Amino acid sequence: MKRRSFIKSLGSSFALASILNIKSSHAEEKTQFKWKMVTSWPKNFPGLGVGAENLANLINILSNNRIKIKVFGSNELIPPLEVFDFVSKGGAELGHSGAYYWKGKSPGCQFFSSVPFGLNAQEMNAWLYYGGGLKLWEKLYGAFNLIPRPAGNTGAQMGGWFNKEIKSLSDLQGLKMRIPGLGGEVLSRAGGVPVTLAGSEIFTALQTGTIDATEWVGPYNDRAFGLYKAAKYYYFPGWHEPGPTIECLINKTAYNTLPQDLQFIVDTACKAINIDMLSDYTAKNNLALQYLKSKNIVIKEFPREIMNKLRYISKQVMKEISTHDSITKEIYVSYNNFQKNVSPWTEISDKSFLNIR
Ligand code: CA
Repeated sequence: MKRRSFIKSLGSSFALASILNIKSSHAEEKTQFKWKMVTSWPKNFPGLGVGAENLANLINILSNNRIKIKVFGSNELIPPLEVFDFVSKGGAELGHSGAYYWKGKSPGCQFFSSVPFGLNAQEMNAWLYYGGGLKLWEKLYGAFNLIPRPAGNTGAQMGGWFNKEIKSLSDLQGLKMRIPGLGGEVLSRAGGVPVTLAGSEIFTALQTGTIDATEWVGPYNDRAFGLYKAAKYYYFPGWHEPGPTIECLINKTAYNTLPQDLQFIVDTACKAINIDMLSDYTAKNNLALQYLKSKNIVIKEFPREIMNKLRYISKQVMKEISTHDSITKEIYVSYNNFQKNVSPWTEISDKSFLNIR
């Protein structure tokens, strides 16, 4: 498809799934910047991996091939959790990943993906774009020669798959659950045993009883892993990941070599993928949920007693990590204030509406 007709097609439908296979007819000689993108996802993994490919393709197309990006799935060039360091050092110009993987750099990173009982996807975007969040994110990553951009969101996740019914807090005691990051820390303080496993290892661990429970993403991605064949109880809500932002990491030196119009194209493409991935997840989760309902599983809401306890612990954990360094403190204060101030609006807008729909 020619660039002009592609741009024209954007006007009528901005669903980017269709651009995966578009190969521009423009000659290679137009390319001024040959870039690499490393990701934390298997190549073309539904939602996340496709989002990375779409981002690269969109930059190629919008820049009229002046920037040409080659995308690498996890382990093709580097392991999934080395994306941050690799882009920071200039091994690749771009990365596509999740900020909570980098809590070892600073605990503050975690606020830029998802916080237990924190902001949902819509509120995250509001905080990042219009609430000072992105500025703080840039300050945090700037120290590593990186520029961050929101570049995807899974929307609210599910609470996870359990091989037994969870009726009260006592059912969490000793429960071995694959749940990484802050959610895992909260579970451990409630008596559970968090386990960290790569996505590809989850199904077997759950089926063989190595773990009692797991969270992954939501119906769309959980169905792809066949988790409904390994555990019967599927719980909601995803208290630990209410709307995780996916990030694009940009090497700052590389970004600064771009002329201003190409910088704008990279920024705008990230924004486009941010909304596109959320739309994709919402549509596909809906379809996958219908499929899962036809299977022999029980879809249940966590008891309120458990949610109250986990919320209480989450607030404590957030407060504790905020004391780790000054930038984390600054991020914590900004995030918390935003949540405190946006919540009354969400209550009387979205929540009240959904309750009566
Ligand atoms: Ca998850």
